[in-house]
Amino acid sequence: MDKKRVYTFGKGEAEGRSDMRNLLGGKGANLAEMNLIGVPVPPGFTITTDTCNEYYEKGKDAVVELLRPEVNKALAYIESVMGLKFGDVKNPLLLSVRSGARASMPGMMDTILNLGLNDEVLQGIIAKSGNERFAWDSYRRFIQMYGDVVMGLKPVNKEDIDPFEKIIEEIKEEAGVKLDNELSVDNLKELVGRFKKAVKEETGKDFPTSPEEQLWGAIMAVFDSWMNERAILYRKMEGIPAEWGTAVNVQAMVFGNMGETSATGVCFSRDAGNGENLFNGEYLINAQGEDVVAGIRTPQQITKIGSQRWAERAGIPEAVRREQYPSMEEAMPEIYKELNELQHKLELHYRDMQDMEYTVQEGKLWFLQTRNGKRTGHAMVKIAMDLMREGIITEEEALMRIEPNKLDELLHPVFDKKALLNARVLTKGLPASPGAASGQIVFFSEDATAWHADNKRVILVRIETSPEDLAGMTSAEGILTARGGMTSHAAVVARGMGKCCVSGAGAIQVDYKKRTLTVDGVVLHEGDYISIDGSTGNVYADRVETKAAEMDDDFRELMSLTNKYAKLKVRANADTPHDAQIARSFGAVGIGLCRTEHMFFEESKIRAMREMILAETAEGRLQALKKLLPYQQEDFRGIFRAMAGCPVTVRLLDPPLHEFVPHDENGQREMAETMGVSIDAIRQRVESLMEHNPMLGHRGCRLGNTYPEITYMQTRAIIGACLDLQEEGITCFPEIMVPLTGILYEFKEQERVIREAAEEIFKERGIRIDYKVGTMIEVPRAALTADRIASSAEFFSFGTNDLTQMTFGYSRDDIASFLPIYLEKKILKVDPFQVLDQKGVGKLVRMATENGRSIRPDLKCGICGEHGGEPSSVKFCHNVGLNYVSCSPFRVPIARLAAAQAQIEEDRNAAKK
Ligand code: PEP
Ligand code: MG
Repeated sequence: MDKKRVYTFGKGEAEGRSDMRNLLGGKGANLAEMNLIGVPVPPGFTITTDTCNEYYEKGKDAVVELLRPEVNKALAYIESVMGLKFGDVKNPLLLSVRSGARASMPGMMDTILNLGLNDEVLQGIIAKSGNERFAWDSYRRFIQMYGDVVMGLKPVNKEDIDPFEKIIEEIKEEAGVKLDNELSVDNLKELVGRFKKAVKEETGKDFPTSPEEQLWGAIMAVFDSWMNERAILYRKMEGIPAEWGTAVNVQAMVFGNMGETSATGVCFSRDAGNGENLFNGEYLINAQGEDVVAGIRTPQQITKIGSQRWAERAGIPEAVRREQYPSMEEAMPEIYKELNELQHKLELHYRDMQDMEYTVQEGKLWFLQTRNGKRTGHAMVKIAMDLMREGIITEEEALMRIEPNKLDELLHPVFDKKALLNARVLTKGLPASPGAASGQIVFFSEDATAWHADNKRVILVRIETSPEDLAGMTSAEGILTARGGMTSHAAVVARGMGKCCVSGAGAIQVDYKKRTLTVDGVVLHEGDYISIDGSTGNVYADRVETKAAEMDDDFRELMSLTNKYAKLKVRANADTPHDAQIARSFGAVGIGLCRTEHMFFEESKIRAMREMILAETAEGRLQALKKLLPYQQEDFRGIFRAMAGCPVTVRLLDPPLHEFVPHDENGQREMAETMGVSIDAIRQRVESLMEHNPMLGHRGCRLGNTYPEITYMQTRAIIGACLDLQEEGITCFPEIMVPLTGILYEFKEQERVIREAAEEIFKERGIRIDYKVGTMIEVPRAALTADRIASSAEFFSFGTNDLTQMTFGYSRDDIASFLPIYLEKKILKVDPFQVLDQKGVGKLVRMATENGRSIRPDLKCGICGEHGGEPSSVKFCHNVGLNYVSCSPFRVPIARLAAAQAQIEEDRNAAKK
């Protein structure tokens, strides 16, 4: 039998299930599942994602022929369930056609509603509904959507208004009305006529009258939309492969715009912004779904408490609220009760917060969609912890529910409270996505991207956003819209991105032509500063300082849960006592890399450092090093104190020397005076330090081996600091690390100097401590000869920055010149300096660990390149059996979570076997 391409659902039956999302897309799989668990869903069918790939392989005609028999059969099924007939004049069935990929891509692809209408069928709808206005309004919406999506009648330039909207505006003006719903039947008839005329004039084609032709046009348009620009961009951002394809969902239409007992809306089983366990959502009476999402009318709240909170924020008195903006709970109590029960049922069934769409048609509730709701990082943590405490999911599941990278948002800035006192509140909108952002105003997506590329921080201000604004939203610090509710495009997308957003700030007037926004007579221009608070909805007319977020109890609970499961330890890369303290507060259990050269960039130390480098003789160097020693020792004391009781790996001096010397005349003259030599002598020395390939030049242990006195001084400072603290009763575990080892003897030579210096200081002070001497493995030769190096080195730390550089032969500093093209051409999937290349660099890490431990079974191995805080790389390190990863302090929570997840995955895999 030929493979199945169409799966039907309806009336409590379905050919698909929720675990078939790869084939049916998320929406299709859930529509099937909802039927199976008794949630009322309009009958329909799903065309598989595989068919989308066939469409791109075989072309339109071939796919239509392949699909036709199954689609006809499925259509007959819908007709029988609904008791209606597609294209029938007396008893017509209308359809919706929507996309639905495996991963949710909100608003990225196109939807067509009311399909199947033509002049004759329209009469049937009028006769059946007895509502002429509703029928004509549905007709004009259909032509508008179909004309745009299938026939391509769209604005040409970004400043143009939509051709259909233009006609609507003309007719409203002629009729002397302000709102769409004030248009009379005659106005709507006129609208339909002008729409059709515009389609013919602009596309050269008549608007199709055959419902069958309409259906195939719509199905093909959904397949086409998989490759539209914004879908491609979204996939790129989210790492969704093009091969996944989209499914097409065709469903019987139900109408939320059939009068006052009809409504439509979206709802969430918990708060997607802050995670609170509170059913919430919005509804619009006598409206179609697109009205809610497009933010054209401001929707009302579903629950009474939500409505009251909303009114309070908007400064609307309770009596006015009850009268003009009642909640669904108050206005449609029966429907509300059913909706509430079903949302709860869906959450329990899927065991996660649900984002649902529904329609009420003449008093009957239908669910159109459910999916696991997108949420902010804050809500993600709270919901996972709450579901765990409520006994709905296990600890392991709670940990697996957290996206490591999204934890970043919890560490995101909030406004500095003091700075806020002086800030002017310009207006207030809805707190659509939390966080705080300050930046310069831009009005267009393209400008946001361009300004961002110029290192400017921008706030994208729009009347409302659409999927076309995606690139700009990504580049902006925050998004402010004049229209739209908590479920508007801006709100939903910003939340998914973890970006701060204030939506529906209705007092703002945006003028795209003049590039201004006006509130109560205050005019702000493009480039002016503005600040928005996505947690309160406040908009400030100034630049307001932000500060880092504080951790809450849920976050702390999550973090302590990671300790219960993770085997891999997490240390931090920290070069100052301050960073070490932050790292410790985030739960780092040591320092995996202290880059000592970073300690010399301060004004007070740089001169002594320069003296040391510019000195011609060993005595001169020793002289200068003596000046540096107390500074180093003081810094180390601070770091070891902050990390009392934890191991601290201190790396000996690494960078190319020419980075430290003065290249300008003034600096050179100053050094000449300090050192009592001629400026020429200084200039010559600076020139002699220049290298063609500094990254492959005189750095790492090559420095220590040519100038052993540096190693000597640094060892004295490290051990000296630890002995000082030991006298204060603080325990230190120093690990002295030799950088850039490639040859065993490079290491041995350095180890000799280190051990001699340590013994010397132990003898002088009459006390000793334990310390380890190990090396970075960051030169491929070191990885290849790890067994030899482990014969001397007591620990390995993989410097995957340099190891990636030298394995690929890509300069760390110059990869940007070709990386975008490599990513574009898919030669590389990701930047290997961000995500560890497991096949190549990772193979060296694995091999070196195994070979090193074959000689020294207790060899401690860690990683300290930038990959140490990247979740997939952390999981790899766990799988290879490293002892720890080390990353920047703010990524410590992410690494801890990834480490716990790696262990849980390992346990789950073991249980399967
Ligand atoms: C590395 O090379 O991975 C490393 C951690 O050292 P640096 O980045 O300082 O070269
Ligand atoms: Mg390095």
